[in-house]
Amino acid sequence: MSADQSIDGWLEKLGFGRPEAQALARATLERAGLTRPGKQRISNEKLPRAEALVLGRFFLHCGNPECEAEAQASGRQPLLCEPKSRCGRCGGSDNRKAEVAFLEACRSHAVKRLVVVGGSPAVREELESALGGALGLRAIDGTERRTQDRARSDLEWADLVLIWGGSELHHKVSLLYTQVPPAMRRKVVSVAKRGVAALLAAAVEHLRRP
Ligand SMILES: [Zn+2]
Repeated sequence: MSADQSIDGWLEKLGFGRPEAQALARATLERAGLTRPGKQRISNEKLPRAEALVLGRFFLHCGNPECEAEAQASGRQPLLCEPKSRCGRCGGSDNRKAEVAFLEACRSHAVKRLVVVGGSPAVREELESALGGALGLRAIDGTERRTQDRARSDLEWADLVLIWGGSELHHKVSLLYTQVPPAMRRKVVSVAKRGVAALLAAAVEHLRRP
């Protein structure tokens, strides 16, 4: 006897947790002959085909405007997911959400070039891959010696400079970016909190301040 499982439960796990999403996914399965009306369970054997079918037809998104826009552009039918962790764009990730909000704030405040001083190599890499496509980004190792001239050129180049004090950052390096003329000081934000989401949230707050 082959194993099977509840269609509703399986759809919920995939992210079709909302009743209307579930009904649409179910109708798709019925049209493809993978189940029929009134049937409660589906054999495990059919699941890979069923999954490819519904995920190929629908783009599950969390409702975040950026995620919804990507769903609209995907060529698949956008559907609100539940749980949010099944979002096809951000996976419900806090970092991803913070990145999206930050990029939106940058757009509305004409921030095109960003300098981040500090952070671990892994986190600087994450910032590069998340923000590098949308912004000019210099992610600077806060543990490496940097000259005054290089720092000054970073400050002139950037629209926004984030000094990430909650992370790997030597005092000598941070001073290069914080002991500067008031005109430049205005684009420099010191953030003491750890984590990408907290860093970017502090930057958004700074940009929104009048
Ligand atoms: Zn999302």
